[in-house]
Amino acid sequence: MKNYVNAPLLDFYMDLNKISLSEDAVSFVKPACGVINLEQEQAVPMIKVYPPRVKAVDFFEVLQQVSGVIKKNRPDMINELAKIEAALPVEATDREMFAAQAFIPDSNLLTSLKQDLPRDTFGLLMNHTVKLFMVRYAKKVENLRNFDQWLQGQCPVCGGRPSFALLDKEDGKRYLYCGLCEVRWRFQRLGCPFCLSNESQFFTLEGTEKYRVYFCDQCHGYIKTIDERKAGGANIDLFWEDINTLPLDIMAINEGYYNRPVGQPATNN
Ligand SMILES: [Zn+2]
Ligand SMILES: [Zn+2]
Repeated sequence: MKNYVNAPLLDFYMDLNKISLSEDAVSFVKPACGVINLEQEQAVPMIKVYPPRVKAVDFFEVLQQVSGVIKKNRPDMINELAKIEAALPVEATDREMFAAQAFIPDSNLLTSLKQDLPRDTFGLLMNHTVKLFMVRYAKKVENLRNFDQWLQGQCPVCGGRPSFALLDKEDGKRYLYCGLCEVRWRFQRLGCPFCLSNESQFFTLEGTEKYRVYFCDQCHGYIKTIDERKAGGANIDLFWEDINTLPLDIMAINEGYYNRPVGQPATNN
């Protein structure tokens, strides 16, 4: 499978992985006692219970670095990125608001800039910037909850759609994986994680039988899956599996199914 993914895309992700965040780049707010009970708390994504706090200074510093990585790997985006950077807030209070808004699920940052900016490039820049903080945030809060008991189709940390799944080699239990927060959690073995229908159809690609793409004709969602029992005992890093299996996304999308990969840049041409 590795050979199908172009080298520039792998370089892009390797460059992004080199961006380092300070240990205290993300903190979170604990809900006051009695505001929320344990049962309610266990049913909603953690981002809504323990809102992340990111300093605007750190946020914009990382954003600059992500922009630099995109420019290096996608010179064709340099002009669009320059336009976006020029439109970003400058005043400290505006920056605080912008950075805070970036971590509120479903908020529309592009609208807040009140300018006509290239939507895809803006999304790419923001998703990868937010992602770096979300991975750090997830590491800070993951001990507060048992992901084996979450059993929902959405990410226990950010509430987003899973981008990948793993069938465990021990007993075939299924785990879902969030491409934004890089966490995995337990989910029922069969059925669609998006609409919870009982559908469990999948296709495989000849020569790469360890991968399955489950698709659902109820909601047209799909999820790439790796069967650990067929992976030959290798250590599985779902982050790279997700990227290395981009051709499976393309096949599924061409068949009319969709997922929402996190800020994956379109390949050249
Ligand atoms: Zn997530
Ligand atoms: Zn479905």
